[in-house]
Amino acid sequence: MHTFERQVGPQRIVFGAGTTARVGQEVARLGGTRVLVLSTPEQADLAQRVATLVGAVGTFSRAAMHTPLDVTQEALARAEELRVDAVVSVGGGSTTGLGKAVASRSGLAHLVLPTTYAGSEVTPVLGETADGEKVTRSAPEILPDAVVYDVDLTLTLPWAMTLTSAVNSMAHAVEALYAVDRTAETDARASEAIGDLAGGLRALHAESDEHDGAGGPEGEGAREARADLLHGAWLAGTCLGTVGMGLHHKLCHVLGGSFGLPHAPTHTVVLPHAMAHNADAAPEAMAAVTRALGTDDPAPRAVQRLVAGLGGPTDLAGLGFAEPDVPRAAELATARPYPNPREVTRDGVAALLLHATRGDDL
Ligand code: NAD
Repeated sequence: MHTFERQVGPQRIVFGAGTTARVGQEVARLGGTRVLVLSTPEQADLAQRVATLVGAVGTFSRAAMHTPLDVTQEALARAEELRVDAVVSVGGGSTTGLGKAVASRSGLAHLVLPTTYAGSEVTPVLGETADGEKVTRSAPEILPDAVVYDVDLTLTLPWAMTLTSAVNSMAHAVEALYAVDRTAETDARASEAIGDLAGGLRALHAESDEHDGAGGPEGEGAREARADLLHGAWLAGTCLGTVGMGLHHKLCHVLGGSFGLPHAPTHTVVLPHAMAHNADAAPEAMAAVTRALGTDDPAPRAVQRLVAGLGGPTDLAGLGFAEPDVPRAAELATARPYPNPREVTRDGVAALLLHATRGDDL
């Protein structure tokens, strides 16, 4: 099992199993004495357990997808009322987003206990929603001060979310492999991340009979597999935080922000199609993905087969996206230029989206 602690730039990382027990000590290291624990409503019990463990002065369990500004303002008011000096975010990307929004505005210390594979905890990026519009910004003060990865907190993640969250993470690594500002170091981390994520998914699937979306107790083999998944998520998250993402992330941002599609399942469906679109323009990246996945298939097909073989979503129609929406989504995704290995055109993106909507085989 991966177990380590290290300083990565301004951020402290603790990784292992059972590490939640160390949160009090880690918050104290940041100078925190009065802690507010943040979570979604669904994870309020977990937030309460963490609050008891660290002797927190309160909890705020209203985190929501896309970091709505009114929720942030409520959390800020609660932090002020309780005179807190640190926030602890316990949850997935939605809760981490709230913690980032609160800490970057107030200057409070921020520690994250991630429970999904989203990777937001290691990026200086925040997407917030106000008046129906999602605005993304990046700033050094958004990066959390410390992350405590505890494999045990991921044991409750239902299989369907485990799969889509891991593929969301894999997408960070895949796009890092063809990013214009990639380095030998990000290439190495991205390849290792893809290997960890695919290996973890295959092992967990083989290990557990509980793949009906209900979660359930998992054995020691599953814990090892989840350690690989979380380690891959950390590595892929650092790629997302270091290099620029391309067409795949842009498309998922548009589909989530303007069409209300769910974040991780959308990444899961779009990734192989975005890869197929870019494949000829990024042969080295595709070869690296194929190696990391340990298959002979071309990389886009290998990812599509991995997802389908593990029971994941393979078409956007199944997520509520309809073919008549394709032209507007393509227009939004091509409105502003951004780096991508293959030229981004409205027709090209529309064709990609049509394949993804229908779930065409690659
Ligand atoms: P999420 O945080 O929205 O969580 C989805 C649901 O799963 C919630 O109800 C949550 O409480 C529950 N959950 C989380 N962990 C669980 C566990 N271990 N067991 C049981 N239930 C659990 O989902 P997400 O995919 O992690 O995050 C998506 C959000 O994060 C999006 O808004 C996305 O834009 C953002 N994000 C941001 C970045 C960034 O760098 N800024 C990176 C990735 C994702």
